[in-house]
Order: sequence, then structure tokens, then C-alpha cells
Amino acid sequence: MNNLILIKYGELTTKKANRNEFIRRLANNIKNILNGEEFSIKFDRVRMYIECSNVDSIVNKLKRVFGIHGIVICHKVNTNIDTIKEKVLELLKNENFNTFKIHTKRADKSFEIHSMEFNNIIGGYVLKNIKSKVDVHNPDVLVTIEIRPEGTFIYTNEIKGIGGYPVGIQGKGLLMLSGGIDSPTAGYLALKRGVDLECLYFESPPHTSLEAKNKVIKLASIINEYSGNIKVNIVPFTKLQEAIYKNVPDSYVITIMRRMMYRIAERVALIHKCKVIINGESIGQVASQTLTSMSVINSVTNFPVIRPVACMDKLEIIDIAKKINTYETSILPYEDCCTIFLPTHPVINPDINKCLLYEMSFNYEQLIEECVNNIETITNLKNEEYTDLL
Ligand code: ATP
Ligand code: MG
Repeated sequence: MNNLILIKYGELTTKKANRNEFIRRLANNIKNILNGEEFSIKFDRVRMYIECSNVDSIVNKLKRVFGIHGIVICHKVNTNIDTIKEKVLELLKNENFNTFKIHTKRADKSFEIHSMEFNNIIGGYVLKNIKSKVDVHNPDVLVTIEIRPEGTFIYTNEIKGIGGYPVGIQGKGLLMLSGGIDSPTAGYLALKRGVDLECLYFESPPHTSLEAKNKVIKLASIINEYSGNIKVNIVPFTKLQEAIYKNVPDSYVITIMRRMMYRIAERVALIHKCKVIINGESIGQVASQTLTSMSVINSVTNFPVIRPVACMDKLEIIDIAKKINTYETSILPYEDCCTIFLPTHPVINPDINKCLLYEMSFNYEQLIEECVNNIETITNLKNEEYTDLL
């Protein structure tokens, strides 16, 4: 294990009171995501170091860990001027550049040469050995030399981390995950702010297919690469959905169906100790997502509901979905329970009193109970059985 990766914490360094907890959580998440790799991890309040053999594979995984601001592959040497000079030269010989800058950070104040002076010493040595120029404003390569009590770290480029907060630092949310583009994106955005996920999917076999279910599991396994803990709860929704279609006028079926989904989501959220419900609703996108619809649907629960993509345009959502690799799976054509038997004229401004009246016409409580009692839970999303689906 002769490679060292330095991890720079992101936004979490500003949250002083919770700092230790953030760092511990980040370290645990990294261990979880790197499971199976050979590595060791050390951290203090400022930095985290990973010693490992397989840098490329590890760096690729680290790029998906929220809470990491920067990833630096660095070279540790003894704090000795000649050793530092030689290492800088060796690193720069592998770079293609015309201009460079040396940036010394003297964290170990017992080191006798001041930063500026040390920049000049090392810079002068580079100029003597490699045909190049110094550019302090916009260099092609920036060489950072950190002189620390435990040794000197030298690195040339920092790989941008994904940012955000360590997943789980905020507890868990229940993501209503359909096979569409919006809800996986919403889940990713919640993960980014430190909310771990439990997923909830409503299926209506035989009206919805096994492929539709597998598509949702596959989407969950893709976003699970940012967490490692995600589970999928599959609700058998057929009987309740059929009862809705039998008892409710066409234009209100979607409104009532979504009210039922929220009622079930609240129960499942409580069972799994989720603090919020998260979904992919986006204002105005479809009839059930007008502000009036959203408030009539939401009124069945006092549970907080977070809608990470509420104010985004579809194209903005698609951009994120492509970036996180869910898009190609989301556009596969398997129908979801929201798209089967879609009414021709769904109500755009539903009336809450009508909803209550229609809901009185059948015993939905019992059907909800059955839905909740017969949930199938999928836990090991890292299993190839799920990651290779479709
Ligand atoms: P998406 O692209 O995420 O499917 P959508 O634009 O198709 O969203 P709707 O079908 O109205 O919108 O659903 C809005 C939100 O409700 C979804 O983003 C998702 O969070 C939730 N939802 C819809 N259908 C289901 C389902 N079958 N299971 C779980 N959640 C669902
Ligand atoms: Mg959908």
C-alpha cells in the first residue's frame, strides 16, 4: 500500500458543532463504499488520508461519496529540502506544461524556511532543470507542498469531489420511487444533503409488469452507489387501485390514488423511522402536480414532504439524471401504475370536499392495511442479481 490519497472535507468544515460527527460519518461511509478494496484510513479534524494500492479504482468510488470536497493523490516524503526538490522534479517530468507555480503551506511552523522563500528555492530548482516559466496567476500546473509535522505532502492536481454532506448525517427519508426520470433524481439530491434513503414503490400486477418493477430496483441500485444502505419496499397496490377505479369518477382517480399513496407512505415512513417523505413532484409538470393538486393530495398527511426537483425544469432534471446514470434506465418504456388507465381529463384543480366524498364510498382503510402488511423488501442492492437487471 504505497499510495496516499488525501481527502479534503467540503461544506462540513463550517459546521463546527457537528464537525466530529460529520467526519466520523464520512469515514464510515467511505469504509462502506470501499468495502472489498485494500486500504487503511486515518483522519483528524482537518483532513483524511487513505493509504491504498489500487488508486484508480478507489478514486473512482470516492468521486461518489458525498461530503468530499477534493481528492488529492499525494506523495509523502520526509521533510528534507533535497528530497522535496527531487520529488517535485519527478512529478513535473510526468506533466505536460509550460508554466507552473509552487505553493508551499507551512503547517509545521518548526520548519525553518518560510513559505515564500521555500517557493523560490523549489521554483528555482525546477527552472534550472525543466524548460518552463513561473506564472503565479494562471499556471498550467500548480504544485502544492504541504509541510506538516508528520511529513511533507506533495501534489500537483486536485480532483474535484462531489460535495454535499455525508449520507445519513440527517437520518433517513422515504423516497417514493417510480420508474420515471424525476424521482431517482430527487433521491440523489436528497442523498447529497446527507439524507439516506428507504425507497417505496407501488406496483399493480398484472397491470404493471415485472420489467417495470425490475426497472425501479435497478434505479435504486444505481443511486445506492452513493449510499450503500438503500432498501426498496414494494407495495402490492393492485386491489386498492382497482377499488379506486371502481368507485371514483374518472377525472378524480389520479388525485385519489395519490392521496392513498401518501397515506401509505406516511405509515411506511413511521415503520422505518424516516423523518421525511421525498418524491419527484415538479410544479406544473402534470395535472396532479399543480399547486392546487399538490395541496389537496398532501392534505392527507402532516408528515413533512420534500420535493427536491419541485422548481426545476424537465431539462434541468434530465441533465442531472444523465450525469448520475439513471436516465438511460428511466426512459425504458415499462409502464408504471400512474400511467396505466390514465384518464383523458384528469382534474387540474381538485376540490377537497369531492375527494372526501368519493373516499367515503369504499373501505380504503382496510385496503391500505393490506398494502402495508404485504410489503416486499429488497435489501441487498449491491447484489449482482439486482445490479445486472434488465
Ligand atoms: P417520475 O418521472 O419520477 O415518474 P412523473 O413526472 O412521472 O415522475 P408522477 O407519475 O405524477 O410524475 O409521480 C410524481 C411522483 O410520485 C414521482 O416522482 C414519484 O416520487 C411518485 N410516484 C409516482 N408513481 C409512483 C410509484 N408507482 N411508486 C412510488 N412512487 C411513485
Ligand atoms: Mg412516474
